This record gives sequence, structure tokens and C-alpha cells, in this order.
Amino acid sequence: MERYGSMRIYNTLTREKEELVTIIPGEVRIYVCGPTVYNLIHIGNARPLITFDILRRFLEYSGYKVTFVQNFTDIDDKVIVGAREEGVPIKEFTERYIAAYFADAEALGIRTADIHPRATESIDAILNLIGLLDEKGYTYTLADGVYFDTSKYDKYYQLSKLNPEELSAGESQRVDESIDKRNPADFVLWKFRRGDEPFWPSKWGEGRPGWHIECSAMIHKVLDDQIDIHGGGRDLIFPHHENEIAQSECALGKPFASYWMHNGFVQIDNVKMSKSLGNFVTLRKALQEWGGEVLRFFMLNTHYRSPINYTAAALEAASAGLERLKRAAAALSARVDKPENAAAGTEVSGTEVSDAAANLSAALHTAVAQFDKAMNDDMNTAVALAAIFDLVREINEALTGEIDQSVAAMVLEGLYKLTDCLGLDIRPAAEEIPAEVRRLVEERAVARKARDFARADAIREQVAALGFDIEDTPAGAQIHPRG
Ligand SMILES: [Zn+2]
Repeated sequence: MERYGSMRIYNTLTREKEELVTIIPGEVRIYVCGPTVYNLIHIGNARPLITFDILRRFLEYSGYKVTFVQNFTDIDDKVIVGAREEGVPIKEFTERYIAAYFADAEALGIRTADIHPRATESIDAILNLIGLLDEKGYTYTLADGVYFDTSKYDKYYQLSKLNPEELSAGESQRVDESIDKRNPADFVLWKFRRGDEPFWPSKWGEGRPGWHIECSAMIHKVLDDQIDIHGGGRDLIFPHHENEIAQSECALGKPFASYWMHNGFVQIDNVKMSKSLGNFVTLRKALQEWGGEVLRFFMLNTHYRSPINYTAAALEAASAGLERLKRAAAALSARVDKPENAAAGTEVSGTEVSDAAANLSAALHTAVAQFDKAMNDDMNTAVALAAIFDLVREINEALTGEIDQSVAAMVLEGLYKLTDCLGLDIRPAAEEIPAEVRRLVEERAVARKARDFARADAIREQVAALGFDIEDTPAGAQIHPRG
């Protein structure tokens, strides 16, 4: 049974939430701008990774076949300067940062894209696209390169909604500058060779691609003329994405991407991150400090379009929230594996057991409905997480009594399906002893030292209910999973 098709997405192009209607029914083709590989990525770069990884997971969860593409910009001024400063070949330099990217992404639980095209491997497609623009009269040539004439395209500024009169003030600083440009927003498609920089031959002269044309060309090369969703950080709206639309729509004469999704900024302690302010945090450092799961959980707590504030307090709260999820999963999992351990000593009548089971089943259905509703509403992960925590409260409540094994198994599976959709793995590792059990065993050791054996025995029962046995040995207490 097909059940896709109920998602609404905020489209930057229209500034409205729109129902997702894909070009091919049941399939979604997504392209997300990837990193320029000249340094370690920072936590601001981690946000689009997580945002679009979750989009991909949710669309698959909803029944879509998803093709997910993310590029590497592996030729650029910064790449050339970086490699030169280190005195290493460009290829060696970029391979290092592509490998670093994959290591960081994996630590965040980001799935590898279906295709990771690279600019340097797409030169034919890039030249072909520039050729189409040239044939149709959208280009002009200056001393330093081939430029796109934005005045020839009357829908330029459709994405950013910028006012061209105001452009020269601030935004044009971010556009390629040549004093001879016809219009402030015009941008370079092909940069002519300078000195010993890398270059490729072309009919306009030896050179290398501009940044914007790379993405358009890679999209058409590996996906199609038209795609469903184009994503990236909101800092890419202008000029990068505006230019991608202009190039693709002028060259191919059809709409480029149906939906444009942009994630909000990451701030550090309420301040915009910047190298000059010294509050620049690499993802590597954040991973060392908090771990990938906590960082992901932290980002999920805020809607992807809102700014997010990276603070120690927020990360600690995320860590505690994740721990709560894992504790509930571990305790419920112990009941599924060992039903005879359920609520030792609690007398419950058959009616009460089935009431509890019915309540827990109902809680799962409610949580799934709330989760789907939130995610279908422009991917509201914060509300989706709240639905999961409602379920966790019900699970913890149910754990105080007996739980029918089949209901426990169904609820656990349902919980995992939701957390998997968010990219959170909360399954207890086979040999892992939950933090709660460790804490209880330490508490029991203190009680035994104080000869409070009643307390020690009560704790042994609590630990048993969580699915673990304590064995007292001359070396101290050993913890074993029951069974
Ligand atoms: Zn791009």
C-alpha cells in the first residue's frame, strides 16, 4: 500500500508551505550543496547534513524511493590557495578533506549519499551547460572569464526576492567582482587560467569553472533536467541558489527544482560563529566533546528553519534527553527478552494486565500519529521528538507493572521505527550495561558497606527488573544480563 504524499514543505521559492508533489509519483530526487573541501567542516555545516539526512529518512519512512545527491566542490580559490600553502598536489589536498568529511558525517550518523559527484569529474557537463547559455545569448566575455548576464533573465531574484537597487549595498560583496561587469549581480561561469593554476581547455579559453555552474551541471548530469527538492543552508539562497536557477532554467528552458529548502544558522552562545570572533567550532571538536548522537539530538530539538543556539547547557540537556530515551528502550527491551522478570512481586489481576497493554498500545498509536503529523508539517522534528517522549512516559509508567510480552515487543519496535527515522540509534548494545544499572550497583555497594542489607536487596530487585543480575565476587559486584 502506498502511503506517501502527505508532506508539506516550506518552499523558499514561494515563501509558503506546499504539499509535496513529486515529478515521478512515489520517487523524490534531492540535491543538497556539499562542502568545498579545503578544511575541516564546522558545526554550522553540520546542520544541513543532519537536516537533509532526516528529510531523506522521513521520505523513505513515508514510502518514497529517494535518490539523494550531495556534491564536493573540489576546485576553488580556497582549494588552490590551501594546497599551495602546504605544497601538496590539489588532488592529495582535496582527498584528505573528503576523507575527513566522510569521517565526521559518519560520526553524526549521516548516511552516505547515493551519488557524491565532484566538480573536477564533471567538467564536460559544466562546459556543455555554459555552451547552451552561450548559444542562447546569456553570456559575455571579459578579460578574466565568461560571465552570466543577469539582466537577460527577467526571473532573476525570484528565489532571494532581493531588490536589485539595494544589491550594490551589501549583497554584491558576495558576488564575484570584476569592475567591468555589466550588472552588479552578474557572476562568472568560466574563470580564465591564471599563472600555474589548474585549468581545462574550452572553446572560450583555458580555465576552470565558477562555483555556481558546478552545482547546476552536476545536478543535470547525475539526476535530470528537473529535480524535486534542492536544499542547503540559508546563506546559499543568494547568490548561489539564485544563480543555479538562472543557469539551469535559461540553459534548459524548464523549471529547475520544485521545492527549495533552507536550514537556519547555528549560533554559538547567541553570537554568529566567525573566525574573527574566535568562536569558531569545528565539527571535529564538537564531536570529541559531545559525540555525534548528542549533536544530532540537539539539532532535532529545534525546527530546521529556525536559528539554533549552540551552548553547553543545550548540549547537556540533549545528552540527558538521549539518555532517557535509551534507558526506556533498554528497560523495555529487557522485558521483551525476559518476560518472567516483569515486576517481581507485584500482584496484578488479568484485567489490569490487559488494561495496561491496551493503554500502551494506544500510546504507541497516538505517538505515531503525532510524529507523522509533525514530520509531515514541514519536518517539525521538535514536535516529533515531543511525541516520542510522550510515548516514553507511557512506557516508563507501564514498566512499573507487568507488560504483556507481545505488546512490549510491538511498542519497542514502534519506538525504534520513530527514532530510526530521526537517525537516532537507541538500541541497547548487546554487552552494554545501562548507566542506570551501573548507578544502582554502585548505590548497592554503598548500602552493603553500611550493612544496610534490606536496601541492598531492594536494589538487587530493581536491577533485576531492568534485566540484570548482580554477582558478588571478591573483586566486587559483577553485572550480567539475566538469563
Ligand atoms: Zn550548490
